[in-house]
Amino acid sequence: MPKKRAKKATIKAAPAADAPEVLFHVKGKMSTFGGPLDFGMKPDEDVALFAKADLTNPKFSYLFLPSPPPGTSGLGRRLNPDEFYFACRWDYAQTSKQFLRNTLATIENPKNGKSAEARPVDWGPNEDTGRDVDLSPGLAAALGLNTDDNVSVTIEARRAIAVKAARRAGHGTSNPNAKPPIQQFIQSPNYSSRNGSSIEKIVLHCTEASLQSTLDHFQTPGGRNPVSAHYVIDRNGDIYQLVSESDAAWHCMGANRDSIGIEHVGKETDALTAKQSDSSAALIRWLLAQYHIPRENIFGHDFTPGYNRPGGTSCPDELFGPTHSQAAVAAWVKANV
Ligand SMILES: [Zn+2]
Repeated sequence: MPKKRAKKATIKAAPAADAPEVLFHVKGKMSTFGGPLDFGMKPDEDVALFAKADLTNPKFSYLFLPSPPPGTSGLGRRLNPDEFYFACRWDYAQTSKQFLRNTLATIENPKNGKSAEARPVDWGPNEDTGRDVDLSPGLAAALGLNTDDNVSVTIEARRAIAVKAARRAGHGTSNPNAKPPIQQFIQSPNYSSRNGSSIEKIVLHCTEASLQSTLDHFQTPGGRNPVSAHYVIDRNGDIYQLVSESDAAWHCMGANRDSIGIEHVGKETDALTAKQSDSSAALIRWLLAQYHIPRENIFGHDFTPGYNRPGGTSCPDELFGPTHSQAAVAAWVKANV
């Protein structure tokens, strides 16, 4: 008996040894990189940890846009700026390329305690910058980080194992919902920085116009009414993206900085089609998990806190229910999202 007790005591002391082994840790200043708007990357610049062959590997393809941005051939500008990826100055003798390709790191903003899992994709930033970490624009936005803010990056032994579960979900982050396919990413010139605001709400709109005239309008810079939204969902359920989630689109005046805008093609008197409703709900489910947005923060345009246009708007009309009301939007959310 005494022997057994002694053994038990040893086991009880074990938790320290069970704590996950930290394989990599760095704390330092950050910046952002990658995607169609990273003009600091050459059009043919690739990333260190991935190659063209990975574009057809479902484990990695989500990191990249479905087609190369016009005038580019490298993987750097083709990174999907909304996915969660990052770069550090790796010592490949300590953490091999093969290991890094199959691991997830925890990225934390020490100022607000927000953290997310992200995938290493590249080596950088250059030491001359005085920074230690480069993040995807979407990751920086999700954590409320601006260039030169401090960030911490940790890879624990168990993260390397956890990737297996993430792989089964078909996604490299901890989001249990896959992002629905985007038909086309057509960058709108009408966007601005979120200036460190985190994404807190989703705003639903009715285009009151056809798909083509909406896309054309959102591609038109300047003029009397330069507008955009992050997403436009056609009557057949096809989703188009026009602004990266890390940037503010121009769709809801005073509420632009902390929101995601989703347009639904429809006339004033239309209801959503079934396919449109399915696509919108799938996109919203992904957004809620990706940015930790509370479900009650999904608003119809006219009913969005912070939207401050005198006289309001007729949008989103009766797309979500029999009346132009937040109650109709909330009922649709409850039934579908
Ligand atoms: Zn609207």
